[in-house]
Amino acid sequence: MVVILHPNIEERSESYQTTLAYLNRLPNVEVKLHTIEGRQDKLTEVYLLGKTRELNMEQIAALPGVERVVRVSQDYRILGKHKDENRVVGFTYNGVAFNQDNLHIFAGLCAVDNPINVEAMMKGVSDLGLQCTRMGAYKPRTNPYAFQGHGAGCLPWVFELAGKYDIKVIAMEVTHERHVDEINEALEKTGQPTGVMLQIGTRNTQNFELLKAVGSQKTHPVLLKRGFGITLSESLNAAEYLASEGNANVIFCLRGMKANFGDPHRNMVDFAHVPVVKRLTRMPVCVDPSHSVGSRERSSDGILDTLHVTAQGVIAGANMILVDFHPKPPEAFVDGPQAMLMNELERFVEDVRITRNAYEKRRALWEN
Ligand code: PEP
Ligand code: MN
Repeated sequence: MVVILHPNIEERSESYQTTLAYLNRLPNVEVKLHTIEGRQDKLTEVYLLGKTRELNMEQIAALPGVERVVRVSQDYRILGKHKDENRVVGFTYNGVAFNQDNLHIFAGLCAVDNPINVEAMMKGVSDLGLQCTRMGAYKPRTNPYAFQGHGAGCLPWVFELAGKYDIKVIAMEVTHERHVDEINEALEKTGQPTGVMLQIGTRNTQNFELLKAVGSQKTHPVLLKRGFGITLSESLNAAEYLASEGNANVIFCLRGMKANFGDPHRNMVDFAHVPVVKRLTRMPVCVDPSHSVGSRERSSDGILDTLHVTAQGVIAGANMILVDFHPKPPEAFVDGPQAMLMNELERFVEDVRITRNAYEKRRALWEN
């Protein structure tokens, strides 16, 4: 059960104190508090976990601090969409709003290599008026002898360059909870020039201890990749792990499933699930065309498969695109062959704009 308190309720107020005292006295019920900083209001939600079936909804709704009470199903309690509710969807981080209605492009390097390439990437992104990028410092690699990422050492100069080009959010994978501390230290040391969206990679979608650690910090939002060999429901539950630990600022990323049926693509593209995830949950949905397709092959129409697949995600209502670009792909340490070229970025953005426009028209067509 979710008890939604009046917006901007003060913790010191009598109505808050009376309400919490009542809820904390309920037998066999665990009380978990979630606060959400909206653009205008601070919202407080109280999750009642455990034996909630016998609780009297009317009595709880009548408590002085309560706005609404929602009975939620067992699945995806925090992130799911439930009957009779209109809880907030999305969040704002470092001045950038993420929700199920807008769209952000995170074009960037799969892996940080050197300052020249990172700067070229950030300049290219910023010249087009984009505020976000992707930069991998910690790379989970199949081969133990392959480049594992520059790690903490590169963070200060990557963050400083982001600040120089006014990049607000960098998507960056973490594979260990220690990496979150390293990111925080580097941001602190450099004076918080940018923001970081912590990425959980497909190989770690069910690394529950990592999910708990990343979910228990509220500084940064989280981009959770769908596990490439598990069901959608299992991946959505992984997202719920983050929320259950306190961080509901989660974006869910589709990135293709491991299956030979996807050949010759690197993975089987699963972007038909964009509307499904938006229907089942309150998470904004991201698509990663680069790791889905895994190459720079193009069709006889001259359009790269990566772009066709991006369009499939966008026309289905995706809210974020995570895409590999590189100023000099042969110099890339990771995934160079799937990277798009800097001189393709402007057309990429235009292509996305065309498709997004078509999606908005489709939406208007089916309104009411
Ligand atoms: C990545 O985005 O760099 C990455 C490794 O993706 P995935 O976890 O989806 O393989
Ligand atoms: Mn990659």
